Amino acid sequence: GHRSASSSPDIRERTLIAVKPDGVQRRLVGKVIQRFEQRGFKLVGLKMLQVSEDILAQHYSHLRAKPFYPDLVDYMTSGPVVIMVWEGYNVVQSTRSMVGHTNPVEAPPGTVRGDFGLHVSRNVVHASDSVEGAKGEIQLWFQRQEILNWESCDQAISCEL
Ligand code: UDP
Repeated sequence: GHRSASSSPDIRERTLIAVKPDGVQRRLVGKVIQRFEQRGFKLVGLKMLQVSEDILAQHYSHLRAKPFYPDLVDYMTSGPVVIMVWEGYNVVQSTRSMVGHTNPVEAPPGTVRGDFGLHVSRNVVHASDSVEGAKGEIQLWFQRQEILNWESCDQAISCEL
């Protein structure tokens, strides 16, 4: 049926999610990915890399004056991270609630940080906290051609083969 523009949901909203070095070391990459796939979001970008201090300074520019910033740099550069772009309706807000409070003590069981984290300085994952913030973070971490606009097989004949 007919739908007005205002009522049609934005299924193209995107967010940046990262499995931080502690999550990679603890073999939690698959579990983190599985949660977002299961919720119904679409993975449109994925890579593993060693973070540079330069990109981190841009990513965490709002925290540069904090006393924990030097430790945060050491932590985030201590090993590889897995960095992803996820797409879907309300993906920023929904993944933030799936990730849980910054401090795992405040994150309820069932959230990534509530299930896998103990301390605020080792909280397993990153998730963008606003649609605007996500846009900037995706531009910072990904080249345009690294993001793939694939169509779900739900709409394709290949599903039935
Ligand atoms: N962080 C920390 N100590 C603190 C607060 C934050 O080590 O007291 C780290 C933690 O890894 C957190 C990151 O800094 O995820 C970014 O902090 P932010 O406030 O942006 O929280 P987030 O958006 O990650 O929940």
